[in-house]
Amino acid sequence: MGDQALTEIARRLVDAVRPGDTVARLGGDEFGIVLAPAFERDALTAAERVIAAVNQPFTAGAKEMTPTVSVGIATARPATMHPDSLLADADLAMYFAKRSGRGRHAVFTPAMRTALVEQLQLGEELRSALAGDGIEVHYQPIVDLRSGAVVGAEALARWQHPARGFVPPATFIPLAEELGLVQEIDAQVLRRACEQGQRWRAAGITDLRLAVNLSGRNLEDAELVERVMRILRETEFPADQLELELTEGVSIAESARASSLLEELHQRGIRLAIDDFGTGYSALGRLRSLPFDRLKVDKTFVDEINGAGGRSSLLETMVHMAHVLGLEVVAEGVETPAQEEYLRQHGCDFGQGYLFSKPVTAEELSAVLAETQPQAAAQAG
Ligand code: C2E
Ligand code: MG
Ligand code: MG
Repeated sequence: MGDQALTEIARRLVDAVRPGDTVARLGGDEFGIVLAPAFERDALTAAERVIAAVNQPFTAGAKEMTPTVSVGIATARPATMHPDSLLADADLAMYFAKRSGRGRHAVFTPAMRTALVEQLQLGEELRSALAGDGIEVHYQPIVDLRSGAVVGAEALARWQHPARGFVPPATFIPLAEELGLVQEIDAQVLRRACEQGQRWRAAGITDLRLAVNLSGRNLEDAELVERVMRILRETEFPADQLELELTEGVSIAESARASSLLEELHQRGIRLAIDDFGTGYSALGRLRSLPFDRLKVDKTFVDEINGAGGRSSLLETMVHMAHVLGLEVVAEGVETPAQEEYLRQHGCDFGQGYLFSKPVTAEELSAVLAETQPQAAAQAG
């Protein structure tokens, strides 16, 4: 099937270029195209043609698939530039195209080299932060919209860099995923969250659910279940108070190994949530066969409630469909009382957002909990 896919893609590439251009397979799933002398805008047009041509469904065996391609563009300036340097530039541009999402193209600039060096540097610093005690965990309360009570908290990784200051997860999580460090981050956050959860339990807050993010990269290795269970065993935090949040719905649905890992975790009593729902390619119907308990509707839909119409019909539909499928719904990024009211009226079960609280330290969350469970939280920070 892999060979069939390569042949089909090669055919599409040849069809997408003009006579006089050259198409070659460089190895693996990488192709090179040399355009006959052209302006940069011709290269951009060609890249768009290539992306559109490749991104069409085809069937191999019994399976239909739709390939995507990322394109890096480099120009030989001067025209005598060594082919290896030209390829290296195109390769670097392709790397940046890939990082910006599926089916994109990028034109090489010298700044890309500087950026890459910077990334590698940041990666090294992340490695040492992980080896030391550099990654901390903050907690953001999750509120039951009917009662207003804090029923859970999401653990979020925090990296306070000694020189750079606060580095946001949006910067270091994708980097960690590329460098293969994210499993280690997720394991550290999980361990700290479970330890803290036990402190809260010891202080009498026995029913707080803790949500921990799990990068999809964890589902590539079979040791995930063992790793999670070991942490639960060692910290003695109960499995049924732990919830794992995953973002990549579709890729999970399509991977037999990933779905069986989730099934195993679920059988041990761990709850599973789909994070950032609505931003990716996940269709609720396709997730039906997976053992998810909760759906977290992405902030972008909650933001719509502020818009001119003051409503989000998509959000209403998601809440309804989720309930039909037996999933609880958490709205992310709730910032205003109007949003909260709207969500409650439309049957959304839980809310999380700055309106209730920003992510805070364990001590600060203990103080919040003390307001609802006064005698319990005092010594739990
Ligand atoms: P997420 O899992 O969807 O987490 C919610 C994010 O939304 C958090 O950003 C939180 O601070 C932010 N947020 C919550 N309420 C509001 C609000 O009302 N307004 C606004 N503007 N933002 C709000 P944060 O902490 O920067 O994390 C970003 C993402 O990084 C997370 O999104 C998650 O995907 C990832 N992440 C964080 N910690 C970890 C981790 O330990 N492991 C993994 N794999 N990913 C993590
Ligand atoms: Mg999350
Ligand atoms: Mg989210």
